[in-house]
Amino acid sequence: MRLAHLPTPLEPMPRLSAALGGPRILIKRDDLTGLAFGGNKTRQLEFLFADIVATGADTIVAGAYTQSNWCRQITAAAAKHGLAVELVLVHGVKGPRLQGNLLLDKLMGAKVTVVDIDDIQRLPPLLEAKVEEQKAKGRKPYLVSPFGLETLALSAVGYVNAVCELDSQLAEARVRADYVYLSGANITPAGILVGARALGWRTRVVAISPVVWEVDRATDIARIANATARLLGLDETFAAADLECHETYMGPKYGVVTDACRRAIRLAAEMDGVILDPVYTGKAMAALIEHARERRFGAADTVVFIHSGGLPALFAYAEDLGL
Ligand SMILES: *Cc1c(COP(=O)(O)O)cnc(C)c1O
Repeated sequence: MRLAHLPTPLEPMPRLSAALGGPRILIKRDDLTGLAFGGNKTRQLEFLFADIVATGADTIVAGAYTQSNWCRQITAAAAKHGLAVELVLVHGVKGPRLQGNLLLDKLMGAKVTVVDIDDIQRLPPLLEAKVEEQKAKGRKPYLVSPFGLETLALSAVGYVNAVCELDSQLAEARVRADYVYLSGANITPAGILVGARALGWRTRVVAISPVVWEVDRATDIARIANATARLLGLDETFAAADLECHETYMGPKYGVVTDACRRAIRLAAEMDGVILDPVYTGKAMAALIEHARERRFGAADTVVFIHSGGLPALFAYAEDLGL
C-alpha cells in the first residue's frame, strides 16, 4: 500500500565530512517520506497497513510514548483510510504537553489517553483493556502490537524495499556503501540486514540503539531479520555478529538528550543544514562523529547515514538543545 513519497533523496553532507576529516557521508532522507512529517515508520506501515485494512477493522488501537513517531504515522495512515484511532500513551520524559507528535496525533483526530506511568513494558494490558472497551461500544478494533514477531517482520519488509531503492541510487552515483549507520532498535536494522544480504552488499550495518531492553539488540534484530527472510522466502539466516550494535549512546534513559547528541544535532545543522531529532538520529550521528574522530574509517570509505525522521519531537525538546 502506497503511503510514502518514494524514492527519498540520497544527498552528500560535504561540510560535515570535511569537518571530521572523512569519511564521505551520504544521508538517506527518510525523514522525507512525507506522511504527516514522515520518518521510517511510513515505509514500515506500507506493508503492515495493507494487512490491517484487509481485516475490515474500523478502529486502530496503538500505544507508546507521548512523543511517539510511530503513533503519529499510524494515526496519519488511519486518517487516510477513514479509520478511527485510539492511542494509549505513556507520558515518558516529555509528558502530556501539546507539542510535537502529541499535537499532531490530536490534530489528525486520534483519541488519546495519557497514562501516568513511565514504563512502556506496562502498556500491553492497558491496550487490551482499550480493545475491550471499543468492542463493548460495537467497534471493530485492531490492536497494533509493536512486540509481535509477525508485525515486526511484515514491517521490516519496508526496509528491504528501502535497500533496493538505495542500491539503485548508489549505482547511479557510482559509489558503494562501506557502512550504513542508523538509529535502530529492531525493525529498521532488521530490514536493512535482509536487503543488504539479498543484494550481495559487502556493507557493515551499524545500528545505534535509542533504547536498552533486557534482550541485547543485536540478537533481537537477527531474530527479526530471520523472520523477515522467511516471510520473503529467502533462504538466509542471520546472527548477532552480522551487525554492529551500540547500546551506549542512549544516555541515562530513552528519550533523554545527551551532550554528544546535542552537539551532533547542532553540528549537522550548522554544517549542512540537516536537521536531526533528539531521541534517535541525533544519537546515531553522535556515534558516527565519535567513530570518525577515532579514525575508524579509511580515507576513501563511504558511510550512508539513514535519517529515520523523528523531527516533530524536536519542538518538544526546544529547551534541551542548549541554545
Ligand atoms: C522508531 C524510530 C527509530 C527506530 O526504528 P526501529 O524500526 O524500531 O528500529 C529510529 N528513528 C526514528 C526517528 C524512529 O521514530
